[in-house]
Amino acid sequence: MNTADRTGTTRTWCPSGKADAPESVVLGVRSGQDGEVVYLADPVPARDVLPVVPEDVEPTRVLRFASHCVSNCLHRRGNDCTLVERVAATPADGNRNVPRCHLRPHCKWWVQTGVDGCRRCPALATTVVEGDDLGALVADPATTREQLEAWMAAEADTPAREPIG
Ligand code: SF4
Repeated sequence: MNTADRTGTTRTWCPSGKADAPESVVLGVRSGQDGEVVYLADPVPARDVLPVVPEDVEPTRVLRFASHCVSNCLHRRGNDCTLVERVAATPADGNRNVPRCHLRPHCKWWVQTGVDGCRRCPALATTVVEGDDLGALVADPATTREQLEAWMAAEADTPAREPIG
């Protein structure tokens, strides 16, 4: 992966990036029933993969992409990524190891949160599916940490629904 820009500056990369940026690479494949990301051993240019994704499938539904972390991103606050702040506020699977990941030396989330981001990273989808209320809150740049924590506390207080039938 070429992580230097034209001025030779080392860049950080977003692990929930765009599929269609010139530098985009495939970070991993969402697989299994839960759609967890299986990370590729090496980056593959997105432009080599996008042509084989069926037209009626949103590429970010089945793949995760990495692209440059950019200053005009909606999730930026100064030099920080607020998306990974919200991600890190969500519950982590305590049994999950930190995944092997080719992006780590250049990853904005790793730089900012270390293993906190990595433990949650495989469960994340760049495109939030309908009905994933927590995912929608995390993805919304307007969501504050207090709102996120209040939502999770309310969910924890909600009794589990009885199965129908
Ligand atoms: S596993 Fe960690 S280093 Fe790799 S993309 Fe996710 S947050 Fe970044």
